[in-house]
Order: sequence, then C-alpha cells, then structure tokens
Amino acid sequence: MATINDNFLKLKAGYLFPEIARRVSEFQAANPEAKIIKLGIGDVTEPLPDAIIKAMHEAIDEQASRETFKGYGPEQGYPFLREAIVENDYAPRGCNVAADEIFISDGAKCDTGNILDILGKGNKIAVTDPVYPVYVDTNVMIGNTGEANDKGEYEGLVYMPMTADNDFIPELPKQKVDVIYLCSPNNPTGAVMTKEALTQWVNYAKENGSIILYDAAYEAFIQDSSVPHSIFEIPGARDVAIESRSFSKNAGFTGMRCGFLVIPKSLMGKDSQGNDVSLHKLWNRRHGTKFNGASYVIQKGAAAAYSEEGKKQIKETVGFYMENALIVRNTLTGMGIETFGGENAPYVWVKTPGGMASWDFFDKLLNECNIVGTPGSGFGASGEGYFRISAFNSRENINEAMNRLKTKLSV
Ligand SMILES: *Cc1c(COP(=O)(O)O)cnc(C)c1O
Repeated sequence: MATINDNFLKLKAGYLFPEIARRVSEFQAANPEAKIIKLGIGDVTEPLPDAIIKAMHEAIDEQASRETFKGYGPEQGYPFLREAIVENDYAPRGCNVAADEIFISDGAKCDTGNILDILGKGNKIAVTDPVYPVYVDTNVMIGNTGEANDKGEYEGLVYMPMTADNDFIPELPKQKVDVIYLCSPNNPTGAVMTKEALTQWVNYAKENGSIILYDAAYEAFIQDSSVPHSIFEIPGARDVAIESRSFSKNAGFTGMRCGFLVIPKSLMGKDSQGNDVSLHKLWNRRHGTKFNGASYVIQKGAAAAYSEEGKKQIKETVGFYMENALIVRNTLTGMGIETFGGENAPYVWVKTPGGMASWDFFDKLLNECNIVGTPGSGFGASGEGYFRISAFNSRENINEAMNRLKTKLSV
C-alpha cells in the first residue's frame, strides 16, 4: 500500500485567498452592478519592458535555425545572465558575489521551498509574524513542524512578531534558532531592514551557527539610499546567508518565471557528524539533478533587464507603482488612517481604523467602497488589526479606489 507524506495533512486549508475569493463572489452575486477594484493581489499589472520583449523575440528566432538553436542549457543558468547579475546587482554595491555562486531558476517561490532539500531535519526554524506563507507551509510539508493551533501557529516554529512597536523589524530570538527567514522589503508589511538591523542578524547567525534565508524579491522598490539591497552588503554575510531574488516584481516576470539564489561558497552547514559541508556544493548537486535549467528565451529576457534600455524601463515601471503607493498613503493619511510601508515597497500596511479586526475592515471596504484588500490576520496572528493594500494596479483603478475611500468609507 502506497503511503503519503502525512505532513501535508497538517497544512491548514489555504484559508486566506480562497476566503477572500468566496466573500468577493458572494458580494458580486448580491450586487451584480458593483464595479469591484482588487487591491489585494501581489501580482504586477504593467506589461513587460520593450527591451525585454525584443530580447525574447530574438531568442525565439535563434531557436528557428540549426546554427543558433539551443537545447539543454547549463542547469545553473547561462553565464551571460549570471555575469550580468554580478555586474549590476552585486559588484556596484561592493558585494563579493561570484557568477558561479548564482543559481538561475524558474522563480523565487520554488527556490524558497526547494532549499529545504539540502537542510537537515530537526532544524529550529524562525519566521516572522506576519509572514509570506510559503516559508511556513514548505516547512510544514517537509516535517519541520508539529500541528497548528487555532491561531494557525505551528508547533515547533519560532514566530517573531513584527508590529508597530518594533517598527516591523523582527527582534533577535531569545532561544537559539538554526534557520531564519527574513524578507526585506517585506511582504506584507512593506517595512525594510536597516543596515544596523541586518548587521545584528548576521552577527546572531555567526554566533549561533545559523543560516539566514534572505528574500530580496522587492529590492528594486527601495527608494531610501541607506537601505541595503542585498544581505551581502553586510560584512560576514557570506558565511551565514543565502539570498533569493526574482525578476517577477521588478521586471514583471510573474508570468515569465525567472529568479535566482545566491549561495556563497564560504557558507557551511554541519553534517550529522558535526563536519562542515559546503551548501553551495549540495545545492549544485541538487539543482543539477532535479532541475534542467530555466528556459533560454526567459533567461535572455532576464538579461535584457540589465541592458541600459531595460534598466531605464524597469525604473519607470517601479516608479509608477511607487507613485501608486504614495497616492494610497496620502489618501489614507488624509483620512486620519495610519499607514506603514509603501515607501520602499509596493505594499501599504494599513492600521485598521478604530482597532477594527482585519476581516471586519475587509467586509466594510468591500461593502461600502467595493474595494478588495488583504486582511493582515491572514499573514499571521500579529497581522490582526492590519490590512494590506497593494500598489500593483493601473493608475485609473488606484485613483478610482482612493476616490471611493474618500467619499464612501465611514470612519
Ligand atoms: C512575489 C514574491 C516572490 C517572487 O516569487 P516568484 O516565484 O519569483 O514569482 C518571492 N518572495 C516574496 C515574498 C514575494 O512576495
């Protein structure tokens, strides 16, 4: 009899987004004329930059003739892309990252889950609360947790609250943890880790032999020049950190699929005998066995994100989303509603007026303004009383939504 991985049975049914969809369709059915504006999704809306489209067209044409046809590429990614990443993302910031420490993939979400393949069972895992749910669920699936309690917290995980009291920057845990998930700029809070905060974490990891999994999917949205774009800007990070990046949010690749991991060769984990083992080596083996490389066409498109034209066009799109975020922040602040984030990230983290519960505010916004956002409590217990508004939308929708807030929301 074939058995299954029982850990999957511990997962809470995907609660947040299905529940949002249920409430929205129920409302739409009862109010067929309502024009609902969705500010809940974490997906981009603007088309791909021309420079990227052009590069992908050319790459497709190469596949049309024997002389330039490409079959399987290097599993780790083409050198032209790995080198462009070093030259543009790391070298200019003084980060010591080599091209062969970069592993191209079909996106950061997969990388985030897959990395657990090479880490041992029984590691103590620390996640923030609120959190990007992928970090938690992938640890549940692989057996690093017990059951969930009624707040949705899994036994065995260490939750690090992020609230207005700590400026949404997680504090060092009192107990020793082995693996730490950090995301900056943060989804969902829009907060960023300062150089000082990140240095504390790198030092903690050094002292405790921990590994930091640093998710920098939103680094392109950083506006404040004092905020680090990479954990490798912090001295010593090469010995403790893996960085994850994606072309999804900056270059609009949510439908194209391309991301990468940086795993420094100096990063070691312990085997069960207590010996140092290179994680770079393990990942190289894992990636080469379970992955056959991201598509050539997509990698050509990703490389074009680093061309002069590509960089300029991406900057414009990011600027456009950040202007959306500013419009949202200004509108809410003008109404006396407190907001966080949205300055270095495409998410505005709203304190619900009058201490309303996240789902109550969701219903109110849907009913009074026909606007959909994301209840903060869906990202973790400490998200209760908050609400995420995404800046990924057309200007027309953002303006219309803000107009409805001003004229229809009773606060
Ligand atoms: C969107 C997002 C990513 C990117 O995932 P892809 O699989 O590359 O599209 C990674 N981390 C966070 C926190 C995100 O919100």
